Amino acid sequence: MEALLNALTFVLTACWVIYNARIIWRLYLAANTPSDERIKVRCQRCGTTYDVSREEYGRLQMVKETKVTKGVQTPIGGGSVGVPTSQAKRYLCPTCGTKEWADTVELERYATEAQGKARPIFRQVVICAVGLSAISLVVALLGKLLGVS
Ligand SMILES: [Zn+2]
Repeated sequence: MEALLNALTFVLTACWVIYNARIIWRLYLAANTPSDERIKVRCQRCGTTYDVSREEYGRLQMVKETKVTKGVQTPIGGGSVGVPTSQAKRYLCPTCGTKEWADTVELERYATEAQGKARPIFRQVVICAVGLSAISLVVALLGKLLGVS
């Protein structure tokens, strides 16, 4: 009987983990799907608004950022934590013809978008963990009922 319970635990756990791993993987893929969406930036020198690709936007480079911490604006570099209110990177401006600092238009939207994608993945990990403890609890109760342990 104990071997049967162990087998049951194993099967339930394996099924649950596989089920969750598949959901998490799907969510991960959905969050990282390359998008051909263009991101609007505004040239700080001439004021032209133009598009850059998501790839170009996400590239690692120097960033000029202003963040809000408890309503006070602090320039980045002072280790401030907060929501970015402005973010500028250097892109090739079509009007100036040179690399100029350009502000991200609709920055808030992109910041919330990134958060919105991470949240369901985190939630699924929590569900998976809760489910695992529930399985061991149920099996332990079952063992007690059957007088195994
Ligand atoms: Zn320009």
